[in-house]
Amino acid sequence: MPELPEVEGVVNSLKPVATGKTIEHVEISSVLQVSRQAGKQAIIKGSELEPFKQELANAKITQIVRRSKYIYFHLLKDQQELLLVTHLGMTGAWFYVQDTADIAEDKFRKHIHVIWKLDDGMMLVYADIRRFGEMRLMTSEDQFPPLLLMAPEPFNESALHHFIEMSKLTKYQNKSIKETIMDGQVISGCGNIYATEALYRMRIHPGRKVKRISQKRLIPLFQMIVDVLNESISAGGSSISDYRNINGEAGGMQDRLQMYGKKQCPACLIPTKQVVLGGRNSWYCPSCQR
Ligand SMILES: [Zn+2]
Repeated sequence: MPELPEVEGVVNSLKPVATGKTIEHVEISSVLQVSRQAGKQAIIKGSELEPFKQELANAKITQIVRRSKYIYFHLLKDQQELLLVTHLGMTGAWFYVQDTADIAEDKFRKHIHVIWKLDDGMMLVYADIRRFGEMRLMTSEDQFPPLLLMAPEPFNESALHHFIEMSKLTKYQNKSIKETIMDGQVISGCGNIYATEALYRMRIHPGRKVKRISQKRLIPLFQMIVDVLNESISAGGSSISDYRNINGEAGGMQDRLQMYGKKQCPACLIPTKQVVLGGRNSWYCPSCQR
C-alpha cells in the first residue's frame, strides 16, 4: 500500500507535468460503469459518473499537493475553485503518457479506469488493479469531514505536540503503540511499513500499550518516524507491491528496511516474530524490542 513517501513521489512527479494544464475530456472505464449500474461506487465516490466527467471537463489544474496519503488536485473552472481528492488505495498509479499503450506494464495497462485528456496532447491516466483507490470531486475539503480530522503533516512544527496530546487520550492509552502511530488522526501518513521500521529502530515492541511508554520515549519515536519517512522520500519510496511513480519507476527504500518483511533481526540475528495488530502484520525482534 502506498504510504506518505510513495504519495510524495507521485505528487512530485505530477507537479511539473500537470500543473497549469487543462483537462479537456474525461473517460471512465466500462468496469466502473458496470459497477455503478450494480449500485457500487468503485473509485469515483460521492458523484455520479456523468456529472463527474462534465464537471472536470475544461477545469484547469492549478496546484497539486500531498496531504497525508491523499493527493489534492486544486482545480479552477469558470472562476470557481474545485478540489479533487484522491488516494491510491492498495494498487493505484498515475501515468502521464501520450497514449495508454505507452504504459509499459501490462498489469497497469489492463486496469485503466480514468483518463484525463489534457490540452497539451498528453493524458493523465489512473490505473488501479484492485480498485481500492478513490477520487472525490468537491468544492472544498469540508465536504468530506474525515479529511478535517487528519493529524497535521508529520513535518509540521505542530505535529509532535499533536501526537503527544493524542497519545494521552484514554482511547489511545490502552491501545498498542503500533496501532496508535498508524492512526491517521494521531500521525499523518505513517502506515504499516514505516511504523514497523520506526518501532524496530527505537527498539520498542509493537504490541506495547501506549500507557506503558514514557513521554521521554515517545518524543524520539516521533522523531524516528519523521526520519524514516524522510529517508524513504529521498530513496523514492518503497516498492513492496505495486507502487510506481508516474514514469512507471519503482522506489528503492525496500532495500533499506531493517525489519519490515525480514526473517532475521539484522542486529542480533535471531529469527523475527510476527503479530497482527489492528489487522496488520507486524514484524519485530523478540529480543531487541521491548
Ligand atoms: Zn534483535
